[in-house]
Amino acid sequence: MIRNETICAISTPAGSGGIAVIRLSGNEAITICEHIFYPANKKIKLSETESHKTIYGFIRDGIRQIDDVLLSLFKAPHSFTGEDTVEISCHGSLYIQQQIIQLLIKKGAKAAIPGEFTMRAFMNGKMDLSQAEAVADLIASTSEAAHRVAMRQMRGGFSDEIKILRSQLLHFASLVELELDFSEEDVEFANRTELSQLINNIKVSVERLAQSFELGNAIKNGIPVAIVGEPNVGKSTLLNAMLNEEKAIVSEIAGTTRDAIEDTTILKGIMFRFIDTAGLRETIDVIENLGIKRTKEKMNQAAVIILMIDAADMSAEKKVLDIKQQYEKSGTHLIVAVNKVDRYPECETQFKSVENIVPVVYISAKQKINLSALADLLLETVNYSSLSQNDIIVTNSRHFEALTHALESIARVVEGLESEISGDFLAQDIREVLHHLGSITGEISTDELLGNIFKNFCIGK
Ligand code: GDP
Repeated sequence: MIRNETICAISTPAGSGGIAVIRLSGNEAITICEHIFYPANKKIKLSETESHKTIYGFIRDGIRQIDDVLLSLFKAPHSFTGEDTVEISCHGSLYIQQQIIQLLIKKGAKAAIPGEFTMRAFMNGKMDLSQAEAVADLIASTSEAAHRVAMRQMRGGFSDEIKILRSQLLHFASLVELELDFSEEDVEFANRTELSQLINNIKVSVERLAQSFELGNAIKNGIPVAIVGEPNVGKSTLLNAMLNEEKAIVSEIAGTTRDAIEDTTILKGIMFRFIDTAGLRETIDVIENLGIKRTKEKMNQAAVIILMIDAADMSAEKKVLDIKQQYEKSGTHLIVAVNKVDRYPECETQFKSVENIVPVVYISAKQKINLSALADLLLETVNYSSLSQNDIIVTNSRHFEALTHALESIARVVEGLESEISGDFLAQDIREVLHHLGSITGEISTDELLGNIFKNFCIGK
């Protein structure tokens, strides 16, 4: 699936900007540029210029001057793709960008398909598959945490861990397979106790990685926080305050939010996905009832539930206990936000019993009182601090799936060792573990898999 041709694409976002960058990669990158680029210093020859130099000059189509540009030169293998690469920084006009691309194509370059530069980097061994995927995550990252996790993955933290696990197991796999060659002689090259220890260590590591996906996924897509409570407690007001915009309709008429409204915002570097829900109360209104059904679904998906309670509510304890009982088992965190403290500044004393059950913050969504305490409580609840350590966190669902399959095969190896199954079955199960781990880093890959991964990239990356 890899083409030999030199490829080109506009690497900056579509539209006009101050400058645009056009990227060219492949064997002919420099020769093609020599046909259209004229250095201001006429003595300079691109083919003789060393790598990592920037050259000022002009792009011309025959005698027609198209633009003044800066050309950055990266010679193989010292480039992102591992091939000769030229980046042309031109003025950001759409017309200029199109003219340069057309010229490059006229001189023999091919238009790049999505992700083709990164795919070449992978094919040329500049990075493995999980690192290449992290490039896409890095480009898409919108919060500090997502950026940090993608950066770590791109630098190879996750790959290194997988490769170490895999190489340890590979050693044993070959010993077990060697035994098969000597099956007549009943020898045992692979010490079963050592193998059992190793596979248990691998199991612990793979389990830890798979478990990190919940947090990793939340970091990437926003930690889901459902705002629930009775009609009119101020849920929509809180959502708007958290998002700093008018997303939900605020009204004094109970039951105005009939469907869940959600949006993301970043609090201290972490993306949260706030979900405003229809009020939780029994109602005969069909549409509102549908809304309440959706509320319950949203509550099931949430990592954190903010139960909002009116500061004047005297029966809070029972409601808190009810919800806590329903969601405790699923691991969903529950916090209580007592709202409208602007009206009832003395209300804290009456919520002491609730404070013994769950964390409570006293806020006014309307007057924006104490909202930062609510944000701090949210961050504390999702235990963001665990992220600051150098833990490897899985954020990609493809990796999570591979780890889950690896765990299934690991379970079979463990079982096989316990029941002393024959070497050929054992070898087969070990091979499966190796296969799943290898699919993460791309040591095992198919054209279909690669096609699926890279098609989601943007053109020019
Ligand atoms: P929801 O039904 O729970 O989404 O409640 P809304 O956000 O629509 O708010 C219901 C009413 O309570 C509106 O009139 C809001 O202006 C009002 N409200 C919301 N938060 C506060 C607050 O902190 N203090 C006061 N005094 N009123 C509030």
